[in-house]
Amino acid sequence: MHRDNSPADTEMSRLEKKIYVIADEVLDILKQLSRENKKQLNAKLIAEKMFTKDTVKQMLAHPAREECRDRKDFSPLRTIADGVLDKLSELLPSFMNEKFKDLKDQFDDNSILEDSTLWLNASIRIVRKYIDSISNKNKELELFIHQTIQYLSETEQRLTGELSAHQEKFNADRAFEKDISAHMSMIEQDFSSGADIDDIRKAVLGKIENINRSIEKKREQDMLRLRETEKTLQEMGRRISDIKREADELKKRAEEIENESFHDKLTGLKNRKAYDEEIVKALAAVQRHNVPYSLMICDIDHFKKINDTYGHKVGDLTLRKLAALLKERLRTSDFIARYGGEEFAVILSHTSLEDAVKVGENVRNFINNSLFSYKNRKIPVTISIGISSFRRDDDGTTIFERADEALYLAKESGRNTVKTEEDVISHQSIIN
Ligand code: GH3
Ligand code: MG
Ligand code: MG
Repeated sequence: MHRDNSPADTEMSRLEKKIYVIADEVLDILKQLSRENKKQLNAKLIAEKMFTKDTVKQMLAHPAREECRDRKDFSPLRTIADGVLDKLSELLPSFMNEKFKDLKDQFDDNSILEDSTLWLNASIRIVRKYIDSISNKNKELELFIHQTIQYLSETEQRLTGELSAHQEKFNADRAFEKDISAHMSMIEQDFSSGADIDDIRKAVLGKIENINRSIEKKREQDMLRLRETEKTLQEMGRRISDIKREADELKKRAEEIENESFHDKLTGLKNRKAYDEEIVKALAAVQRHNVPYSLMICDIDHFKKINDTYGHKVGDLTLRKLAALLKERLRTSDFIARYGGEEFAVILSHTSLEDAVKVGENVRNFINNSLFSYKNRKIPVTISIGISSFRRDDDGTTIFERADEALYLAKESGRNTVKTEEDVISHQSIIN
């Protein structure tokens, strides 16, 4: 038979293999027990052996998946059913082939469905034992048939029990179980009735057909339920992804708002609010880890004059350019904020006052040497810098005040210069 490599086909060969394994195992158990001691053969023993088989356990553990198959996949199922029957025919005496063909015809109505493969196997086993009994005309084997039927009944109960554990909510399952049980006990009655073997044969085959019809009906109901459940799940899935998308958008928007609230629109640098938060973190780090931190305040010299000379717009452009240059010159670990107006605060982590002076000088020099211009007119831009070093008993105000005093001294000293809190102290001592 031609086989393509579709997923359904792969699934089919997987299932086909499973069916063969299970069929083989059942027959092996029966053969083995029969060899060992026929008197010990009983339904309980066979059932117990059967349910210790991993393959059987697996099949019971995943009934739903195999029930999901669509009718479109029917012909591979037909192939599987035929395959199982063919395999069985190899085990039968050749003179039984005719009767076996009858059995095959019983399944020709396309009512073999995937979840019925277990029942198909069970049916095959009934018939096999039945055929054996005809060929041997052995009373002991007739007893064996009776025990096998009992075993099948128990198997059926366990199977339906397992199935309903998955689908207890559906009343239809119970009706199905009842239906199957009724058929099984009828088969049992037929065997124990002592009627003519040919009548038994007809009766059994008829009942097997009924069982398959019940299975077909149940499968259709299950398919319908599965489709409804699938639809509901899909709808739920869509709603969940809608909600998720909305939530993502809201989150993004909230982040944007949050981001905006911590940034200065004109320069794109962090704003005063962000500085206030950062200074608290820096003070905590200094107190906890006793590491050197410095604060640097940069203020544009005579900025008012730039505004007055070139206009407010040029003033704005100057602020933007200065912000970009500060960013360019300082490390990414340095926290730069537009503190207000033309004043920028920089928190230098892991930086002593001495090192901060070097950074300050570097920045001041860099700005001094940068070209600021508007309409080919050179704009003189310099900055003055005041630096303080964090102390463990500092708060936001004290640390700022010392840097601000140093800045004031820088302005006083002629601008375009860097002064520290230490310079302030020495300056005061000179005055006093
Ligand atoms: P000093 O050297 O002493 O710092 O003199 P200064 O002129 O820079 O200082 P002052 O505090 O006298 O003036 C600061 C000016 O900065 C006044 C204000 O109009 C201007 N300014 C503040 N914010 C902005 C802004 O966002 N854009 C513009 N264009 N100007 C601003
Ligand atoms: Mg200024
Ligand atoms: Mg100022």
